[in-house]
Amino acid sequence: MPIYTYKASGPDHCRYCMNYFERQQKLNAARLTQCPECGAPVRRVITAPTLARPAPSLSEKNIGDKGFTQYRKLEKGVYEKTIGKGPDIIRDDE
Ligand SMILES: [Zn+2]
Repeated sequence: MPIYTYKASGPDHCRYCMNYFERQQKLNAARLTQCPECGAPVRRVITAPTLARPAPSLSEKNIGDKGFTQYRKLEKGVYEKTIGKGPDIIRDDE
C-alpha cells in the first residue's frame, strides 16, 4: 500500500498536521481532506517514491544477462573477457 503525505492547507492546524504526516492508504482510497486529529483542511503532498530496492548486483551472470560485457585486467593494456558478447581480448595499443 502506498503511503501518502498530507499537510494542513490553511491557517488552521494542530500539532499533528502543522507539519507533514503520513497515511498508508489503498491506491483507490479517497484522499483525506481533513486532519484526523483536528478536522482542519489538509492537502495531499506529492513526494518522490522511495527507492526501497537495492541496486542490482553486478554479478557476472547479471552483467551477461543485461547484455554488457565485463573484462578483467590481465596485464597492462590487456583485458580478458569474463562474460558477455564482446571480443575475448582487448588490447590497448598505447
Ligand atoms: Zn490537525
